[in-house]
Amino acid sequence: MFDKLFNRQPNDKPFLISGPCSAETEAQVLETCQRLAATGKVQALRAGIWKPRTKPGGFEGVGAKGLPWLKKASELTGLPVAVEVATAKHVEDCLAFGVDLVWVGARTTGNPFSVQEIANALRGVDIPVLVKNPIHPELELWVGAIERLQKAGLKQVGMIHRGFSSYGNTDFRNAPMWHLPIEMKRRMPELPILNDPSHICGRRDTLFAVAQQALDLDFDGTMIESHIDPDNAWSDAKQQITPEVLGQLITNLVWRHETT
Ligand code: PEP
Ligand code: MN
Repeated sequence: MFDKLFNRQPNDKPFLISGPCSAETEAQVLETCQRLAATGKVQALRAGIWKPRTKPGGFEGVGAKGLPWLKKASELTGLPVAVEVATAKHVEDCLAFGVDLVWVGARTTGNPFSVQEIANALRGVDIPVLVKNPIHPELELWVGAIERLQKAGLKQVGMIHRGFSSYGNTDFRNAPMWHLPIEMKRRMPELPILNDPSHICGRRDTLFAVAQQALDLDFDGTMIESHIDPDNAWSDAKQQITPEVLGQLITNLVWRHETT
């Protein structure tokens, strides 16, 4: 199902995962996913069900009740679904609902106990897992998280570059620090790497440039957030774009293999 991500051939197009930052309601999930599928550009759907918020008081996700909504979205569109996991219980819930891919979020990658718990819960399960870089520019934690999953026997492990936090105002929500994912590509060349322009940019107007830069650096694809009503999203409102804007953004990306 994820051959185009884990067994890429030279002419395969960039792999695109898209969906809302958070699942909010069943109607929002179904409409977003169906409009994304209609663009014809998306290979997998995403939605956050459990949202690890930096500070208390924010929307922390709908929880496991959102999993059937994703399942329905998958059935309606024929596309696989991806969910962020941060605990062993999240993994169990995802596996029980037939989630097709899980990813480890930036706040979790930096916590070896949590990653080990996730790895243990996934032992013996052949599900693809993507590991976001940790919040801070600490490559060894990123490598270590990947190794914990590989040691648990997982064969389909990949990376997501979502930028790195730095103190004070910068042009980016999370600075891309491109040399760090490039170093990861060098160290783990067999692993696919996606770029996440949404969490790097934190705003809409720079998404295209970051997504293009990642392709120019030979990333394997993009995970980008999309919402039917971005300004009123319950999380990450400033960086989300409608499915139709996303479709246009992807169309405008120049992919070097297309000319060969
Ligand atoms: C997300 O993908 O919505 C998310 C919470 O991202 P990150 O872990 O990169 O902050
Ligand atoms: Mn988000």
